[in-house]
Amino acid sequence: MKSLYGKFVLSSILVLAAGILLSYLVVNTVYHRDMKVENDEKHVKIAESMVSFIESSDGIDLERYLRTQAEAGYILYVSDREGGGSFYGGPFKENSLPGGTVASVLDGHTYHGMRDLPAETFWSGYFANDVANTVGVPFTFGGNRYALFLRPDIGLLFNELHWLSAIMFVSIAAIGFMAVLYTAKKLIRPLTELTEATHQVAQERFTALPDIRRNDEIGQLSDSFRRMVRKLEENDRARKAFISDVSHDLQSPLLNIKGYAELLGKAELPDGQRKEYSAIIRDEALRLSDLARQLLLLTSLDQITDLPEFEPMNLSVQLREVIRKYRWAFESKGISISMELDDASCPGDRELLEKVWENLLSNAVKYTPDGGEVAVRLEAAPESVILIVEDNGPGIAPDDRERVFDRFFRADEARSREGGTGLGLSIVKEVVTLHGGTVRAEEGPNGGARFTLTLPCS
Ligand code: ADP
Repeated sequence: MKSLYGKFVLSSILVLAAGILLSYLVVNTVYHRDMKVENDEKHVKIAESMVSFIESSDGIDLERYLRTQAEAGYILYVSDREGGGSFYGGPFKENSLPGGTVASVLDGHTYHGMRDLPAETFWSGYFANDVANTVGVPFTFGGNRYALFLRPDIGLLFNELHWLSAIMFVSIAAIGFMAVLYTAKKLIRPLTELTEATHQVAQERFTALPDIRRNDEIGQLSDSFRRMVRKLEENDRARKAFISDVSHDLQSPLLNIKGYAELLGKAELPDGQRKEYSAIIRDEALRLSDLARQLLLLTSLDQITDLPEFEPMNLSVQLREVIRKYRWAFESKGISISMELDDASCPGDRELLEKVWENLLSNAVKYTPDGGEVAVRLEAAPESVILIVEDNGPGIAPDDRERVFDRFFRADEARSREGGTGLGLSIVKEVVTLHGGTVRAEEGPNGGARFTLTLPCS
């Protein structure tokens, strides 16, 4: 049986059967340990009261009395010698007594068959209608010694009870079986639906999700599954957008290179134009190389699953070095740069953080107009450092302030500008997130851009 449904039904039935078997064994043990002795004593007392009545009643019709007792629910055997005697009620299934029993009772001993019968099970002990499964007492009647053997007529006494118990037992089994089938169906159906949904998701169909609303573990599984599918869908969309952006961004510089290389091939080209075209080809090649470098970095950032071991590093020293590297770029555009750097040390990845400062500063150079101003501040807080880079350039439109951190996003004005890939700020965001920090874009002085970056230092 391979299906979960079949296994569930089978195991429930097995558990049910095992439960019945175990409870039967428990009842059996209780019967053998306690009830057998009590039952025997109780019936010895009944037999003794019968014989005392017989012995004390003069002229009693013994036959009639014994028949009346049999009708009241007992099976009786009366004998005055081994191998003979009369039966009342019943009948007994087995009429033989262990040898010498009648003689022993006639001798004055009480026979405890109900207690001593070596019955192995409860059924063959309590319900066996055998003469051996009786109690026996002696009595004297009309000057003769007799032995009276007695046991309750279970068939007569418990007939209705038998039927009621049987009906109850069958109903419990039938209702239990149906309940097991119903519960199994109810439990397994959502799992089947979820399995079907995983097949759909495997074929990149993210919409056919089962509508399972439950408060139990299956409900939790379904919620997790939904969340996972949403995430997969998002990743799938991002992956497709990424591939299309990459192809587009690779294509335009390549086309430019191809076009200008063809123009360069023309022999009659004036010297000035030749220089101009080769400069364009060089710039486009640089852009391609930037793009490849940044894509490589982003891919390696994507592949980081465990947090890397960070070493403590002096951020102000590193920042100062990067600013020094960019000073010529600021000067060539006549941009004044001011800096206020607190001495701050934080654990971090030296190479990755350098990329963060470089991207923020190169953007400040790129987007601040000639003669503009850029300010860099590093503030040391008790458990973190805050870096602010602001300029008085065109700034970022409020709607774009979140999106500038998306891969390949470039605001419209930036698109018209050559020399960007739209990947710099997404690298900044990923590196900062990897360090457990945050970064946001706001409005800077005179409508320029301000980037505020917080890094935890504990
Ligand atoms: P890019 O290579 O285009 O600079 P980035 O990811 O570094 O890519 O930046 C994404 C976009 O954010 C830019 O295209 C630009 O529109 C905007 N941006 C970034 N820095 C600034 C800034 N200092 N001033 C104005 N806009 C900026």
